[in-house]
Parts: sequence; structure tokens; C-alpha cells
Amino acid sequence: MATIAKLDQAIAALDQGKPALADRLLSDIATTAFASHDHATLRSIWPSLANARVERRARASDGRIDLHTHTTASDGEMTVEQLLCNHFVRGQILIDDHNIIDSLSAARRLVHERDLELDVFLGIEVICTHQRRAFEFHAIAPTLSKGFKSLCAEHRQQWDRACEMFVEELAQRDDLFSDPLWKQIAEDYSIGGPLDPVLERYQQVRDRITADSIAYQDYLKSNQTFDMGHLWHSWGLAREGDPPMLGHRFFASMRSYSLNVYREALGDWFDYESLAQRFRQVGCFISHNHPNYWDEDFVGEIPHALQAEWIQCWARHGVIDALEVWSPPFASKRVPHYWEKICHDLGLVPMAGTDCHSGREQDFGGQVENHPEIPPQIYAKLAAPAVAIAQRTTEPWAALAAWRDVLEIDYAHTQALAECQKILETFAAK
Ligand SMILES: [Zn+2]
Repeated sequence: MATIAKLDQAIAALDQGKPALADRLLSDIATTAFASHDHATLRSIWPSLANARVERRARASDGRIDLHTHTTASDGEMTVEQLLCNHFVRGQILIDDHNIIDSLSAARRLVHERDLELDVFLGIEVICTHQRRAFEFHAIAPTLSKGFKSLCAEHRQQWDRACEMFVEELAQRDDLFSDPLWKQIAEDYSIGGPLDPVLERYQQVRDRITADSIAYQDYLKSNQTFDMGHLWHSWGLAREGDPPMLGHRFFASMRSYSLNVYREALGDWFDYESLAQRFRQVGCFISHNHPNYWDEDFVGEIPHALQAEWIQCWARHGVIDALEVWSPPFASKRVPHYWEKICHDLGLVPMAGTDCHSGREQDFGGQVENHPEIPPQIYAKLAAPAVAIAQRTTEPWAALAAWRDVLEIDYAHTQALAECQKILETFAAK
């Protein structure tokens, strides 16, 4: 489409209250003009582009804010298309599948092509271990960089390997649960009740996978994709009268074992701190997830005071930036206040998400309020290194490129939009 026609269409879109459409059209013009150093065109469209982006951001932040969502790339029920185009459409969303990032580039493409009023944060929810327990944190990336993608691919490989080793060992070793580490896990987990019912379900799984190679593959794949929920029900692992969170303790104990016992093969890969540092080195923001597996009625596998102690240590050593405070499927009403105070004391960003797998999470645990104050804090952290580079750059085209890099991370970054405009005016003055 000729530039003038595109520009007319974009301005009409802005007038009609379609800032995402206007942003797409103007961004296309800007990309071409920037590539050919055509400052006159850039200058002429910049005020409209800035306007479109600010309006698009305003509309997105007016929608649902959910900073924890899954797709069918791991154990979510919705494809990335269903999640973004049907379920959310408008809002600020973090996609963070378990140990995989297959939905992220599709998400970016969909937002662009369908003119969705969505800010999509790019994330991965990774599994790791500390003091024999299994944890998960979010790593949120500024962009889909090469470094982030290859780190995620390597993490995926390591996790697949841990699962293969566990499923093989479970099938082959009759004395697996007399291993000293299982005795230690049983003791660690005793706060949630005896581990016997968990081990009994493992016996049931072993009988099934040793008798049937399809079941073996099914069990392996469900571990690898974190999608254990369907086996828990369809294989009759869940039974009437089970103690609360038995399924959770079943999955978590396998993770606690595998990430610790296969160190010879896996090295320190899954250690909480070293894994978090790997993600920080590729520019990620780290949030410790759902620390709230406890409330008045139920205690999970970790006493909250112990977990709070570790969180304080990670925060002080710069391992984590944030803590997931609101997560309705698991939390009672008083849990968020406990962690919120800890965030406040430690200067951590308090995160909020439904841990969306089916889209029905709010039915189980009540409303997660929108927290519009959180996304700007995340943007500020993600964009800070790029802003620092841009501020140091003086040659006009290089500076323009550097501020455009900031806009790659935060398309409506107010300072970056204004600095670009300023630089474009210096071209006009020459
Ligand atoms: Zn999750």
C-alpha cells in the first residue's frame, strides 16, 4: 500500500478509536522510513504514531490484567489463539508456559495481525529446586532475543532428560521409595501429612507403565508438559476422601526427587539461584511464583515461615525481582496480605495472576482484582538497560536506533517516544 494511503487510513483509524490498527499501519511506515534514513517521512508520522501507541496502551491497561497464563504448549486448555483472541482480547497478559516458549512468537504475531489491544509479556515458568523442594519462577524477557530463546531450549532439554530418567527409574526399580532421598522427601513433606498415599499412587502408576508401553509414553509426556492433571483423573489416581492437595504433593515430590538425584547428569542446572542467574544474564525479570500453598485450613509441603526466609534471602541477593502475591486457585483471603507485606519490606514487585489454565480459575478461588500499577513497574525494569544505552548515545541516527530499541520492549515508553520526536526535529533544523 502506498505510504500516503496507509497514512490516511491510520489517521482515520485513530479518529474511529482504533489505535491498534493505527499503530500497525504507522509502525510499518516507520520501519521502512527508518531503514532508508528517510527522516522527513519519520518526522511527519511521528506525532500520530506516538498518539496511537499511547492510546493503545491506555486501552490495553483498561482491560483484564492477568500476569500468569498457560496455553496448550504446556498444560493450558486453550491454544494461544483462543487465549488471546477469544478469552482476553483486551488487557495486559503474561504468557508463561511451563518450561517452554512455543506460544510466544505466535502471540506476538497475533497481537500485530489482529490489532488486539493487548500488551503481551513474554515469559516462561521454569521449575527449579532449593533445599530439596521444587519451586517455580517466572522469567519475563524484554524481547524474544536469541539468548533468551536458546536458554529456554536448553532448559527444556534438561527438563525432558530429568523426566526420562525418572520414568525409567520408576519403571525399573522396585526399591525406589526406600532410597534415602525419598525418606528425606517424606520427612520434608510431612507437614502436609504422611507421604504414604502419594507413594501408593506411584505404585499404581508403575504397575500401569510397566504393563503398557503406550501408558509409559503417556506418563512421560504428561510429566514433560507438566500436564499431569488429566492422568490424575483418568487413571483413577484421584480418589474420594483424598487429603487436600494430594495431587500437588504427588507431582511436587517427583520434581523434588528428580532435580536433586540426577545431579551427576544435570549438574547445578536446576538450582534455584544458578538458574535465576542464567535468566538474568539474558535480561530477564524474575518473579517467585505462588508462595501461597497454605492458609488457615491447609498446609502444603513447606511451612510459610521457612519459605519467607528463603524469599528474603533471594531478594537481598538480587536473585528475584518480584513475588506472586495474588493467585486465586490456592490462596485464602489472608494469604496475599502476608506476602504483600514481605514485598513491601523487601522492595519486590507484587505480582498478580490467575495461573490461567482453563479460564475458569476465578470460579474456584474468587476474583483476582486488576492491579494496573504492576505492568508499568515491570516495563520499567525490563526497559532500564536499553534506556541507559539510549541516554549515552549522541549521534542522531544511532540515538534514534537506540530509542527504537526501547520501544521494542515498551512500545508506549513515554520518554522514548518524546526523545525520538526531539531527534527528528534536529534533522529538520539542519
Ligand atoms: Zn503456572
